[in-house]
Amino acid sequence: MEDEIKKIALDAGADLVGICSADSIKDKDFSDPNFLLPGAQSIISIAIGFDDEKVRKFISKEDRMPLSIEEGEVTKSLKRVGEKIKIFLEEKGFKAYNCDCNFNYRFTRRAGARTQTVVSSLRTLIDLINKEKDENIELTKGEVKTLGRLKKMMLPGLRKTPMNLIPNFSHRCAAVASGLGRIGFSGNVITERFGARILLNSIITDAKLKSDKILEKHPCFNCKICEKSCQGGLFSKEETQKINIAGIEETIAKRNSYAYCIAICSGMVGQNKFKEWSIWSPFRFDDIERLPLDDSVNDYVQNMFAKAVEKGGDEAENVFRLVSNSFLGRNDKLSEDFRPSCGFCQLVCGPTMQDKKESYKLIIKKE
Ligand code: SF4
Ligand code: SF4
Repeated sequence: MEDEIKKIALDAGADLVGICSADSIKDKDFSDPNFLLPGAQSIISIAIGFDDEKVRKFISKEDRMPLSIEEGEVTKSLKRVGEKIKIFLEEKGFKAYNCDCNFNYRFTRRAGARTQTVVSSLRTLIDLINKEKDENIELTKGEVKTLGRLKKMMLPGLRKTPMNLIPNFSHRCAAVASGLGRIGFSGNVITERFGARILLNSIITDAKLKSDKILEKHPCFNCKICEKSCQGGLFSKEETQKINIAGIEETIAKRNSYAYCIAICSGMVGQNKFKEWSIWSPFRFDDIERLPLDDSVNDYVQNMFAKAVEKGGDEAENVFRLVSNSFLGRNDKLSEDFRPSCGFCQLVCGPTMQDKKESYKLIIKKE
């Protein structure tokens, strides 16, 4: 059955596929597949690589749309491939769960039925703020009341936005345990064929399948070009930390606050004060002071969400985009709406050392 599953995956468009046991990765909360499928026995890990030319256009800031669309299409393809494997397993009498590739967090499951309400309340709040700021429009009494109520309800919550979201399931752990790749210095999964330029998805099943071997030869060159390519400063330059996945120890850069990545990768901040180059940041906040590189970064980023909503306009729309993706996922969005801003730690890491060096030059080149 393992061979059949792999054939289905590759025929349907996956570039890489592997299998691991649920037991090998269930030791950590975020990689325990029983959270999504109680009684899980195995996981099928699938990956699709990005097109190098589209990555080049994005990191060199020549054109961001080809990679935006690529990211959307790869996400949808992974979901489609997963669905075929799920149907195959169900027809054989097993249970199967086809995960979402990204924007799939545990807190949204806890929010449950409130999920849609949170998103629609934020939509109404932003629309009313925009209306209030429009000199040609006068709010009705009812709208003024709703605006006051929604401000009280939503803004304190935005100021408490968690900076470290727990995924429903860690595709990275499954990919390593299934032999697709190993964890690099950046914490991304590095594969021999694509470097870190992949997206992952996982299918969890109660079928007991034979596991693949973990990749023995580590594809990370420890060049730390990923660290140099990060505007946010998520990674420590020198300090490392150990993580254990499926019985193997991986060494990654010690993490600083995730708020750095949230500020940069969301496109709210395009540049820190020590770097002369910037990321793609089409949603940049125009009144934003430059990102603080100390412990105040958490407060700074949390306040940024609330500040942007109170301001209305494009900045509020960017916060709405992030909140709606986090609560509702983004599989149903049009591919051209994916709009990545950064991901440079991943995109710089092509399959060869020469590719990584050339990609870094493209990132920092001055116009
Ligand atoms: S850029 Fe270099 S150090 Fe970073 S993950 Fe890739 S190979 Fe490893
Ligand atoms: S996505 Fe961008 S900001 Fe986030 S860790 Fe990677 S390089 Fe840094």
